[in-house]
Amino acid sequence: MANNEPKKGGILRAYLNFNVLYKILIGLVIGAVAGIILAATGVTALPKWISMFGTIFTRLLKMIIIPMIVGSLVVGASSVSPANVGKVGIRVVIIYLITSACGVIIGLVMGNIFQPHAELAAVTELAANAAGKMPSDQTVWDIIANIIPTSVLTSLVNETVLQVIFFSLVFGLCLSFMKVSEDERIRTISTTMYNIFDCLAEVMMRIVSGIMQYAPIGVAVLICEVFAKNGAKVAGALLTVTIACFLGYAIHIIGVYGGLLAIFRIKIGAFFKEARTPFITAFVTRSSNGTLPTTFAAAENLGIDKEVYAFSLPLGATINMDGTAIYQGVCAFFLVMSTQGRGLTMGEMGMIVLLATLASIGTAGVPGAGAIMLAMVMSGIGFPIAEKTDLAGAYAMILGIDALLDMGRTALNVTGDLTCTACIAKKLGFVKADSVLK
Ligand code: ASP
Repeated sequence: MANNEPKKGGILRAYLNFNVLYKILIGLVIGAVAGIILAATGVTALPKWISMFGTIFTRLLKMIIIPMIVGSLVVGASSVSPANVGKVGIRVVIIYLITSACGVIIGLVMGNIFQPHAELAAVTELAANAAGKMPSDQTVWDIIANIIPTSVLTSLVNETVLQVIFFSLVFGLCLSFMKVSEDERIRTISTTMYNIFDCLAEVMMRIVSGIMQYAPIGVAVLICEVFAKNGAKVAGALLTVTIACFLGYAIHIIGVYGGLLAIFRIKIGAFFKEARTPFITAFVTRSSNGTLPTTFAAAENLGIDKEVYAFSLPLGATINMDGTAIYQGVCAFFLVMSTQGRGLTMGEMGMIVLLATLASIGTAGVPGAGAIMLAMVMSGIGFPIAEKTDLAGAYAMILGIDALLDMGRTALNVTGDLTCTACIAKKLGFVKADSVLK
């Protein structure tokens, strides 16, 4: 991009050449500080012309999600040799589910330790205006059945992400079988088709790199809005929720991922050197699916065979959500404690572990998905979030800081996908000879 600039465009060139991660971090800090200052001076909303820069960023991310999922998933699934689909697939799914269940348990432990809750009066006050924000009353089981599209074109047009993911996976897997067919005609046409999707995925990766150059500005504005709007509230009950979630995320990284890497004898430093970029990209984009190109690049740099990561990472972006699981545990505790004046029973906690793990299968890795999942899980343990109830008020409070919580949980979700992929690849010998995982 920088090559097209005139020689005199020094500032723009310097900006483009500066490390994108540092730029994003600087944007985060500037936005947060500005938001806190605005909140302190009583300004809770940004002028429209400034908030537009945040909206542009969110719209750019939304723009790429569907074509990127289709491109990367078809290429991913069709890169797996048919002989290895089952071998790799089963192990990957099992490790994903186990780590997600660990996540919910850590979240529940955090909830029990921190006992996050808001005053009932504050919740009731919000409840009156909590109409229209409620997600549908679908159960986990409806969501799982709905993964299968009835019309692929409708799914694409309506951007029903999970249905698009399902079809892309099925399409890609069929292509992987056709590519090794004995019939030359089938081999030729399937390779042509593969090349088309490979090209789509490559184009999308380049668009993502372009968007990442704009990310610092978008992030600064979005964070500024979150802090300006919630500055005062974040200082209270929601601060405890935020601390409990982020501490849970940190414990999960150190305990679960650190433990897994140690068990599979993977050098932790070398791993996190590569995992850093997808971690920050996920933090910013709040989308595991949107982060896929950077997660792919990290897996490649770690020396994992494409045959494994091209399949396991897109799958993980969809079904493996450890950060989201932790968030479910903490927030379920907050919702029950704030509205019922008591903590969770052992039975409710057991049910939350089961439902949150299952619900993660039925939720796509896009911004804000975890909040919808939370409503489903609450409904599953007998606390449906109905309009204008105290529960709706408490839920609205959580939604107020969802952007912040989503950043952390998505970063964890993506790190989890990469950790599990590295462990399974090493265990099954799908790593290159010069891989740092050896
Ligand atoms: N944003 C998360 C992800 O993409 C999902 C969530 O909202 O928890 O992984």
